[in-house]
Amino acid sequence: MKLDRALGLLREVPDFPQPGVVFRDFTPVLTDPDALRAVVDALQDKIDDSTQVIAAIESRGFLLGAALGYGWRYGVVPLRKPGKLPVVADSVSYALEYGEASLELPSGAIQPGQRVVVVDDVLATGGTAEAACTLVERAGGIVTGVSVVLEIAALGGRSRLAGHEVNALLAV
Ligand code: IMP
Repeated sequence: MKLDRALGLLREVPDFPQPGVVFRDFTPVLTDPDALRAVVDALQDKIDDSTQVIAAIESRGFLLGAALGYGWRYGVVPLRKPGKLPVVADSVSYALEYGEASLELPSGAIQPGQRVVVVDDVLATGGTAEAACTLVERAGGIVTGVSVVLEIAALGGRSRLAGHEVNALLAV
């Protein structure tokens, strides 16, 4: 399947999770096997060759990260919301487009010097991806890039990730 048809399956849901917010829903891409494959292949095409590890952001980043890890032999580190990990190495709090959040790194998951790409479905304000990069770097990892399916450009997330290569399959 062509990538543009796969990305055409992304759905806009008005007023979710709160009035005034247009949520970009990735579910129709996931449920279509050819679209999922096209998107995962396109993400892989833009990942730096030196990359060893995927840092996958909960929760849709897990789905993409696991597919990349299996397909191209990366280790996958789940960056999780609070209260999920049994052993936490580090935690970063940040402001979201709607609300506040934290992201946690599992203990022992990233070794100093490892080359790590951050993966998620959507880049909005950039707070989540910035927190992910901070977790990777505080553990001694080297961020090789930030890869997302969709960038909501008007929210300026890319500017919070200055110094990192940001690869989005689609920007709206
Ligand atoms: P940010 O921190 O504002 O960049 O928000 C990005 C995080 O929130 C990612 O983990 C996304 O999965 C989620 N997110 C924010 N907006 C959307 C959206 O419109 N659709 C799907 N996920 C979103």
